[in-house]
Amino acid sequence: MLDRLDPARLDEHLAALVGVVSRDPRHPGHEKAVAYLEAQLRQVEGLKVERQLASAGGIPLTNLIATLDPPNGAPADGWILLATHYDTIANNTPGWRPAFDPAPGADDNGTGTASLLEIARVLAAERATLRQRVVLAFFDGEELGFKGAGAYLVSLSKPYPVAAVINLDMVGQNPIADRLDLIWYRQGSALLRDRIVAANDRFAIGIKPLNQQFASDSGTILDAAPFGMAGIPAVALVERYGPDDATYPGNAVWHTVNDDIAHITNKRLWLKATRLTLAVALELARSR
Ligand SMILES: [Zn+2]
Repeated sequence: MLDRLDPARLDEHLAALVGVVSRDPRHPGHEKAVAYLEAQLRQVEGLKVERQLASAGGIPLTNLIATLDPPNGAPADGWILLATHYDTIANNTPGWRPAFDPAPGADDNGTGTASLLEIARVLAAERATLRQRVVLAFFDGEELGFKGAGAYLVSLSKPYPVAAVINLDMVGQNPIADRLDLIWYRQGSALLRDRIVAANDRFAIGIKPLNQQFASDSGTILDAAPFGMAGIPAVALVERYGPDDATYPGNAVWHTVNDDIAHITNKRLWLKATRLTLAVALELARSR
């Protein structure tokens, strides 16, 4: 099953996403990216695809929400939410103008976005075996403060129907190790965290090290944060963007106009992150 994930398709998606020049919601390339994502998702049989509009301080945002339901319909809760953000920013480049200048965001977060597109294709082919709803969310406005993820969260009725959130963000840049950090939020996410660590071993995915990192309330980063803070089990898989160390050399092009495909230095890690997410999503969606 995991072998159906196709690295060539990851590359194709990434090239298309970077090809729009910028996915900042203030740039004309942004709508091209939305159109690409929507067209790709609509090709997948069994997915229901919707645009969800939101805003960040007057800047219009568009989430793309793709829903995959079991053949006999979805239970009212127990949803699995796979989340990624497709918007970009390059404000670490001096003088960068959001509406005009490039923000390729190959690693941040073309990698996670391409992964989720490819997961959608493979997961949908398994639809007959699912017992839970899987929502594949392509969030906008992460770089403006998780605004797309926040809008999706508040659109859900309470008690929240989501049982688990897995967020992929920046998973293709690390020339020295197949390392990812597993960021988890509040105590309610510990079981999900442990399940992911176990799946990395059981399916021999080979992410190493897979570092567990607790996101304190003051350290809320990534699109998983609004969900985790709301008490929904939520984790993020991300290459570290903290200080350099022996397994992470840093990412000098992060949030610059140079976050391009040439800097995707670890495609093996990118595929591993995709495999691990699919493996856990299938396991969760097949159980009740
Ligand atoms: Zn990001």
